[in-house]
Amino acid sequence: MCDGQVDGSGAAGARPSRRAVLGTAAVAGMAAFGAVGAPGRALAAPAPQGGERTDARTRLVLLGTAGGPVPIAERFGISSAVVVGDRTYLFDAGRGSASQYVRAGLPLKSLKAVFVTHLHADHTADLFNYLMLAQASPDGDALVPPVQVFGPGPAGAMGPPFAGPRPVPDVNPDNPTPGLKDLINGSLDANAYTFNIYGREGATPIHPESILRLTEIDVSRTGADPLKNRAPRIRPFTVFEDDRIRVQATLGAHGLVFPAFGFRCETPDGVITFSGDTAYHENIIELAHGSDVLVHEAVSVDYYKDKNQNAAFIEHLKEAHTDVTQVGDVARLAGAGKLVLSHLGPAKPSMVPDRVWYQGARKSYRGPVVVGNDLVTVPLRGKRG
Ligand SMILES: [Zn+2]
Ligand SMILES: [Zn+2]
Repeated sequence: MCDGQVDGSGAAGARPSRRAVLGTAAVAGMAAFGAVGAPGRALAAPAPQGGERTDARTRLVLLGTAGGPVPIAERFGISSAVVVGDRTYLFDAGRGSASQYVRAGLPLKSLKAVFVTHLHADHTADLFNYLMLAQASPDGDALVPPVQVFGPGPAGAMGPPFAGPRPVPDVNPDNPTPGLKDLINGSLDANAYTFNIYGREGATPIHPESILRLTEIDVSRTGADPLKNRAPRIRPFTVFEDDRIRVQATLGAHGLVFPAFGFRCETPDGVITFSGDTAYHENIIELAHGSDVLVHEAVSVDYYKDKNQNAAFIEHLKEAHTDVTQVGDVARLAGAGKLVLSHLGPAKPSMVPDRVWYQGARKSYRGPVVVGNDLVTVPLRGKRG
C-alpha cells in the first residue's frame, strides 16, 4: 500500500508525524563464495568482479555488513539496499550508510523508502545523516520527497539488565524509550542551527514538512509485550507496498529490544528477506519462506567463548542473536535459494575470517552462501533470463 498507509494484521495506520516531513530540499575482501561485487576492504573502490551482471534490474547491495556499533576499518555499519530499476529501498542505516550509498553508485533521487529493523545505534547511526548531510550534490542529485521511513515506535518499557539487577542510569528518564518519530524529530530539533544556517547561506530553503514521511509500525495487535512477550509467534504483515515491491514484517527475538523487525521484500524478480537482529525464531523462518535471497545476521558464539567472555554475556548473545551454525538451519527450513550472511559479529575479519563464517553456515544448508562484505552486489535474475 502506498503513501505511508499500513495494512494487515498487526500493522499500523500510517499517520504522519507531528512534523511528518522534515528537511532541506536536498537533503544521502573478498567477494565471497558466489557473490558479485567489490572486495570488502574499507574504502576499496566499488569495482565489480566476475562475470555476473551487477546492473541487474533488481539487486541487493550490501552497503555495510558489520554487527555492533564500534567503528572498525574493514566494514561499515549494517545497511542494505534493494534496487528495483530506478528505485532504491534501504534496510537499516548504520554507520557510514549514506557514504556507502553514494559509493555504490545509487542516486539519492532513487531513494523511495527506508525500513529500520530496530533502534540499536548500529542500525540507525546514519539515518538522520541522509537528511542532514545529503545536500544537493553538484550534479543536482537530491532526495525526492516524500521518502517514507518505517520503523519501531516507542518500546514503552524496558526489562531488567540481562546480567541481573544492578543500577543502570537512564538517559532522558522522562522519555527513556523513544521511537522512530522522536529519534528523527529530536535530531532535527538538536540540529536546527545547521539547517537554519544552510538556508541563510543560500541553500535551498528548508521545507520542514516536505521530505520524510515517518511511520511507526504498530505491533499493538500482535499480542507482543515489551517486558514479557517481545516476540510472540505471529504471521507476517504488510507494512508497505507500491508498484515495485511489497514489504512485510515480523517480530524477531532480540534480547531486551522491542520491537525488533525482520522484513520480507517481494519484487518483480524475486524475494529478499532480512532477518534483522534476532535469535533463531520461527517467525523469521516463516517470513523468509521461499525467498530467493535470505540476508541473515550471524554471530560466532565460539569466538566469544574462546575469549573467555563471561557466562552472562554468552547467554545474552544467544538470546539476542543467531550463531552462524544455526543460520543454515533457518535458510534450509525456509527453503531459501541463497543465504547471505551480514551483520557479522565480531565484524573484524582478523577475528573470524570469511572461511569460518562460510563453513559454519554450510553445516546445515547446502545452498549457495555469500559471506557479506561491503559493496557486494547480489543480483536477482527473475524469470526473464
Ligand atoms: Zn545490530
Ligand atoms: Zn540490535
